[in-house]
Amino acid sequence: MSAKISNLDNKIKPSGTMAISNKARELRAEGKSVVSFGAGEPDFPTPEYIVEDVKKAASDPINHKYSPAAGLEGLRNEISRTTKEYSKFEVDPSNIVVTNGGKQAILTAFLSVLDAEDEVIVPCPFWTTYPESVKIAGGNPVYLETTKENGFKFTVSDLEALKTNKTKLLIWCSPSNPTGVVYSKEEAEEIYSWAFESNIWIMSDELYEHLVYEGENTPSPAIYDPELKNTIVVNGVSKAYAMTGWRVGWIIANSEVIGLSKKIQSQATSNVSNLSQIAAESALSNGLDVTNEMKIAFNRRREYAINKINSIKDIGVENSVGAFYLFIDVRSYCNGSIDGINSSNDFCDFLLENYFIAFVPGEAFGAPGFMRLSYALSDDELEDGLNRLDKAINDLNV
Ligand code: PLP
Repeated sequence: MSAKISNLDNKIKPSGTMAISNKARELRAEGKSVVSFGAGEPDFPTPEYIVEDVKKAASDPINHKYSPAAGLEGLRNEISRTTKEYSKFEVDPSNIVVTNGGKQAILTAFLSVLDAEDEVIVPCPFWTTYPESVKIAGGNPVYLETTKENGFKFTVSDLEALKTNKTKLLIWCSPSNPTGVVYSKEEAEEIYSWAFESNIWIMSDELYEHLVYEGENTPSPAIYDPELKNTIVVNGVSKAYAMTGWRVGWIIANSEVIGLSKKIQSQATSNVSNLSQIAAESALSNGLDVTNEMKIAFNRRREYAINKINSIKDIGVENSVGAFYLFIDVRSYCNGSIDGINSSNDFCDFLLENYFIAFVPGEAFGAPGFMRLSYALSDDELEDGLNRLDKAINDLNV
């Protein structure tokens, strides 16, 4: 018998979105033509000008060495400039820590503000990493249920009902992964006031800020909290610039939080790869043209997919105006009326095994009865995959 591993093993789950991508990959390796709606990343390559800047930087010996743990000065200056331009609040470069993707930014932010047993309000459906990183940081996720009927949105009275003297942080993600829901300015302002008055942190995940197709984007809580007394913003280049593999994100917070985040970063990883940081700096300094081109393609696919899905019997999607996800209501097919299908997990397995279409089941996001579709795939694949879904459901109805 080997020595014992940490109890964390009983507490945290592997990424639900990665599980379905792996299964789809296995089927492809067996020669099956799988359409995967699982991807949480743009299907476009990183723009060539970014790659060229990195090629040049790779031959400069200065980039072969350690650099400051908080991030390269040039990148932090660009983050500060673009935050003001796009997110409409000011941040000094010294209040930024560059991390290995938005994912590490979230974990480091939690490690910086949570103590053991602190409660974190996690609105459902949630991005699959949130509760697990709360647990890694020693906190307790407290789930806030929302319903499709309420547009997957929560209000201050929902928050009040969950608040205890241990509530430390609220997770905020608008546009949302997995629903694509975007809160209005008025809705957001009420929630921010509640958090500020309750002296609770808001961790605002703004990775999808550039991907809103209808109406206005949600204003950042940092606009209303210029000293960042209750606000931590997480952002990154993964989604907006097709740079998921480069692994660059960042935390914006007050000096106390940033001081601790820097300590954690310096002990955990030191600096993010210099070349990746240079790639991110190139992305930010070259503007949003490339993002806006991707956005046109995403919006075309979004409109196509919503129309197609809503024409299929007893499934539906609504209110999805941001990010690149649709959260499809498949409750009619998960209630045991079909042999062997008792959950959205079963339904997604059935679709993958029989029709070779991969969706992420709602269980991965704390919302059984639904499944997530990513429309970050080619128009042809989208059409092919949704035709297969249509056929699957027709077959079930005969
Ligand atoms: N936040 C949300 C809502 C996401 O969907 C993702 C990725 O899927 C991330 C953060 C993390 O992005 P990354 O670590 O690739 O920068």
